[in-house]
Amino acid sequence: MCGIVGILGTDKAPLELYNGLFAIQHRGQNGAGIYIAEDGNTRIIKGPGLVGDVFDKNTLSNLRGNMGIGHVRYPTIGSEPGRDAQPFQTVYPLKIGMAHNGNIVNYKQIEEEGGFNLMSQCDLELILAVFSRELAKEDKINEKALFRAVGRTMDRLNGSYSVIALIQGFGLLVFRDPHGIRPMIFGKKVTLEGSSYAVASENIVLDILGYDIVRDVKAGEAILIRETKTIETRQVRPNMSRHCMFEWVYFARSDSTIERTNVYEARLRLGKELANKWKENDHDLDVVIPVPDTARTYALAIAEELGVPYREGLLRNRYVGRTFIMPDQLSRETGVRTKLNPIIEELKGKKVALVDDSIVRGTTSKKLVQLVKKSGAEEVHFLVGCPPIKAPCYYGVDMPTKHELKAANKKVEEIREDIGCDSLTYQTIDGLVKGIGREKNELCLACLNEDYPTQVREDIREYFSEQREKERKEFKVSEQF
Ligand code: SF4
Repeated sequence: MCGIVGILGTDKAPLELYNGLFAIQHRGQNGAGIYIAEDGNTRIIKGPGLVGDVFDKNTLSNLRGNMGIGHVRYPTIGSEPGRDAQPFQTVYPLKIGMAHNGNIVNYKQIEEEGGFNLMSQCDLELILAVFSRELAKEDKINEKALFRAVGRTMDRLNGSYSVIALIQGFGLLVFRDPHGIRPMIFGKKVTLEGSSYAVASENIVLDILGYDIVRDVKAGEAILIRETKTIETRQVRPNMSRHCMFEWVYFARSDSTIERTNVYEARLRLGKELANKWKENDHDLDVVIPVPDTARTYALAIAEELGVPYREGLLRNRYVGRTFIMPDQLSRETGVRTKLNPIIEELKGKKVALVDDSIVRGTTSKKLVQLVKKSGAEEVHFLVGCPPIKAPCYYGVDMPTKHELKAANKKVEEIREDIGCDSLTYQTIDGLVKGIGREKNELCLACLNEDYPTQVREDIREYFSEQREKERKEFKVSEQF
């Protein structure tokens, strides 16, 4: 789950890319990069760490250009923060810089069959190689040829990919996989100096930079924004939308609007749905306490719906980011205390509804229940915004292997016992769909019901599983959950 930004048509492009990346830092903290172009000259600056680590004042003030792309990196299979940071560049058949958000399921297969000489294990390098090869097959490279090459690239790729490419002599070319699993939106700004365009993973980038939203890039669509500021759009492959439900549940910023559905409002509705499910219980509650930060919105709605006071009973250390390097079980356990500290006065002697967005391994949930009980809570009732996560994600969310997923192997009552809470209430899939406010067949729910939008062969599932376990042992992947 990475974040991408593209800007075209303003000398402020370097600063806008930098500020845009800051706005979507939550989508990846493992690396950052900017590719900038002006008059045929291009430059890439990228590296491991946060946006502020990679770009200091000096670096930024030396960047010149009126168009560019930026990326914040979230690590997935096979990744090394330094080597695999995006964007990537090629010079044949044209100079192209590219960045993407997503994950290619058939990476290994394409790499082996294609004989590509890749320098990294970043799937974006493969997307760029496939696209460039398809483009090179064209007799003459013009707009139609670009769209044809995108179509043939889509035919080769299986997975999720929202791509921004900067193509010399043309401008920004963006495309989104036929299921539109990862988000992408574009906007326009008109000033006295003229018009400029921005493309990004989330609309907050456009809001912050002063762009008016034009619309989401559609699933299976490609859009070419030319240096001359004309726009060409093509539905290169059929739109079979299956947007990732986890964007609304956890990933996207609350102030974002994904596919015209505001994330904050969706989380309030999800909280209300969860409260309705809770009403099937006959337990009493004194207080509703969120696990910060995402679950705050769920907890607010639950408190309102149940008429129970909302309180902040756990405080997050704001200097510990969403990602926290926890390569093994032991440090994951100590990690909870590094991140969160209880306010005993809000917990002691109370019947607490503890609200979290999801349970993945269950290790964190168990620690949280222990923490709240140790703080004197009389009862702890755990309410979860996301239905049981039963299967891994192959589309860019770094979930654990199936045998590590709590709900893949246990029934709700067994999970409750393991976690040590007095009751456990999960969101239902119907409640989730209703809360998000989209049609069920428009959403990817595969980690809940194993109905993957694309074919994921058994050998690929095994490969992912082996890689994940291997890399965790080698400390290569930062844990999200
Ligand atoms: S499997 Fe789950 S996390 Fe992955 S894209 Fe689908 S809904 Fe999102």
